[in-house]
Amino acid sequence: MARELMHFINGERVSGDSGRFGDVYNPNTGEVQAKVPLANAQEMRKAVEAALSAFGAWSAMNPQRRARVMFRFKDLLEQNIDELAHMLSAEHGKVVADSKGDIQRGLEVIEFACGIPHLLKGEFTEGAGPGIDIYSMRQPLGVVAGITPFNFPAMIPMWMFGVAIACGNTFICKPSEKDPSVPLRLAELFMEAGAPAGVLNVVNGDKQAVDAILTDPDIKAVSFVGSSDIAQYVFAQGTAHGKRVQAMGGAKNHGIVMPDADMEQVVNDFLGSAYGSAGERCMALPVAVPVGDETADRLIEALTPRIKNLKVGISTDAEAQYGPVVSAAHLDKIKNYVAKGVEEGAELLIDGRDFSMQGFENGFFMGPCLFDRVTTDMVTYEQEIFGPVLQIVRAKDFEEALRLPSEHQYGNGVAIFTRDGDTAREFASRVNVGMVGINVPIPVPLAYHTFGGWKRSAFGDVNQHGPEGVRFYTKIKTVTSRWPQGQREDASFVIPTMK
Ligand code: NAD
Repeated sequence: MARELMHFINGERVSGDSGRFGDVYNPNTGEVQAKVPLANAQEMRKAVEAALSAFGAWSAMNPQRRARVMFRFKDLLEQNIDELAHMLSAEHGKVVADSKGDIQRGLEVIEFACGIPHLLKGEFTEGAGPGIDIYSMRQPLGVVAGITPFNFPAMIPMWMFGVAIACGNTFICKPSEKDPSVPLRLAELFMEAGAPAGVLNVVNGDKQAVDAILTDPDIKAVSFVGSSDIAQYVFAQGTAHGKRVQAMGGAKNHGIVMPDADMEQVVNDFLGSAYGSAGERCMALPVAVPVGDETADRLIEALTPRIKNLKVGISTDAEAQYGPVVSAAHLDKIKNYVAKGVEEGAELLIDGRDFSMQGFENGFFMGPCLFDRVTTDMVTYEQEIFGPVLQIVRAKDFEEALRLPSEHQYGNGVAIFTRDGDTAREFASRVNVGMVGINVPIPVPLAYHTFGGWKRSAFGDVNQHGPEGVRFYTKIKTVTSRWPQGQREDASFVIPTMK
């Protein structure tokens, strides 16, 4: 019997009472290992009320004391990282070492949030006029919510709640229904770190829970990460209901390979970033753009034997380079994209569709695929595949290589591999994409910078974490004060100016 998961509301685990459940699979075996309750609007409302009643005291607590909770939470994450990584790996399917990376990248946002007293400091102008001072302060919004995808079940919730809660907000996390156990455990650890009940709540669910968030008047801001159509929907609905919304979407990141690139390094970089986590990363590098046929031929010659040697295995196999994908439905979708690519006329050089894992034949495994001669009119180029599939699009020169990611519907990340500084600098300056790597295949900015793509990879203006995250989760108040030292002024009927 699959165990039943719960929600985490007002400091405790509570059973779902909607009567609806989702299946949580073990991607290694294909078995249902747990049932996750899918909340209805009434259950979501209970979490909003818990978060509302926690808000007053939490937002009034001085930022240094809030930071101390973050420091203790960071320690608890470090102490529990093995348990969390195994829990994550068992539901997501990414290998344990990569699961630790997922937690570590979230932990780094918590480290950033430990500096919140400094980040919340306002501005001050002394003597803006006679006896007049002006100062600004950043204040929290109230109850805010985060809706997260399956592919980073630790990092992305922490991107959001780490910054939001440190700023003084209270938070509702609606994790992916595919791998909800880690966010639930994070909420427990956060309480153990000293957070009062109701400051961080986790409500599991699907569209019903998301719609309840988007329409609840007491939720002031929504942070979303997931696929682009849903991101656009969340942005439109959330803003129509008066909320501040940041909604990150899908991706199709290109890696430009210039003829002078260090080919051995390029091959290592593509292996890790196209096939790591079975390609289920929004900052994966699923498109290689070698410049010139000679570069393309060299790239393929060097890549092919290495791809054929990749070790696919169960997620707890320490030797495995990547594990199964998240669900049977997703596996089918990836295989259908590969079939479509063949039908569209791309050359399938390596076909991993028939891969089967001995002893785990019902697991959601897929071998690596490599396509050559992919062209921009193909559906499989235009859309995100989100699997272990690398597509090569040959460009004749630098200008064409620059145009490809710039004109693609997605604009999350891009990388250029070259030894030439001028080329790299020009590329970084002109490319129409939000995050750029120069000889860095997965250019995910660190926690004290900010994360966000362009075009259909992000809806809204403010990025995740870093100073932008603090801006997203606070509103600014500006106070103009006058202490006239005994002098009175006459009534004035014109707008005050500083002559
Ligand atoms: P998804 O869009 O299916 O789900 C994301 C969230 O939306 C989940 O919490 C889910 O429950 C909810 N949801 C699903 N369908 C919904 C609907 N019809 N109405 C309202 N809510 C709904 O995404 P996923 O498959 O979990 O994650 C993979 C996607 O996320 C990929 O497209 C990937 O590129 C993207 N992603 C983007 C970033 C980024 O920062 N740009 C980061 C990670 C993942």
